[in-house]
Amino acid sequence: MLYSEQKHFDEIIAYLEKDKNVFIMGCEGCAQSSGSGGPEQVAEMKQKLTEAGKNVTGTRNCDFLCSKALVKSELRGRVEQLKAADAVLVLTCGVGIQAVAASINKPVYPGCNTVNLGGSRGEWEGTERCFECGQCLLYHTGGICPLTACTKSLVSGACGGANKGKCEISKDRDCGWELIYNRLKERGLLSRLDDMMKPLDHKKIMPRPEMMSLARYGLENPGKVTDKPAPPPAPAPAATPKAGAAPAGAPKPAANPPKEVK
Ligand code: SF4
Ligand code: SF4
Repeated sequence: MLYSEQKHFDEIIAYLEKDKNVFIMGCEGCAQSSGSGGPEQVAEMKQKLTEAGKNVTGTRNCDFLCSKALVKSELRGRVEQLKAADAVLVLTCGVGIQAVAASINKPVYPGCNTVNLGGSRGEWEGTERCFECGQCLLYHTGGICPLTACTKSLVSGACGGANKGKCEISKDRDCGWELIYNRLKERGLLSRLDDMMKPLDHKKIMPRPEMMSLARYGLENPGKVTDKPAPPPAPAPAATPKAGAAPAGAPKPAANPPKEVK
């Protein structure tokens, strides 16, 4: 399971600044369990976008958006609604958003950030992968994850070392940034490359403490979790007494000693 959280509505509405007509997709797999993209959240998003002046051309919830075959088959009955849309907003994990972006020839925007593994990885067979960075960048990259498609996880463009479309690190791999460039070009979105990308917040990539305590996290990260009790804290070092001070353990003098009676 990939745990996702809905992006702040201000970020979503900023993505849709130039798009009037929107189609919304949700996922009844991990996103529904996460409370970020099930039928309830899709209905809420439709209402919010309508109130914000957008025209929602249609919505669709799928069992698993991470399966491209399933995405295509689920959308077969929604062709007209999709045609009428300027963009597709997807409420699910990074893998699902990438699978939708690979399946339809429309601008696809992420409505969620994939935060972490909430358990074992999904059983998708596609090539899309998510690094659970907690700050989904797929809007800027045409729906291809730069962290997983680029061997160096570069988020601000290509390193310049690619040769004939292959990565300089591994000739068996396509250059992720060439894939991103080609996708943006094909969809008429090359201006996205002018976007100023914020530096990644690496704190968001670290598993949260509550996730690290899960039994499954332990199984998937052998050696990182132990069931041995933590050692007791070391005793604090004894303070060095000041010159003239009473030795440690000596009774303290009373704050207001009684006056001597003559
Ligand atoms: S940018 Fe990539 S790693 Fe980050 S949430 Fe999106 S798909 Fe996952
Ligand atoms: S050649 Fe492409 S995929 Fe490889 S590290 Fe450079 S930008 Fe990333």
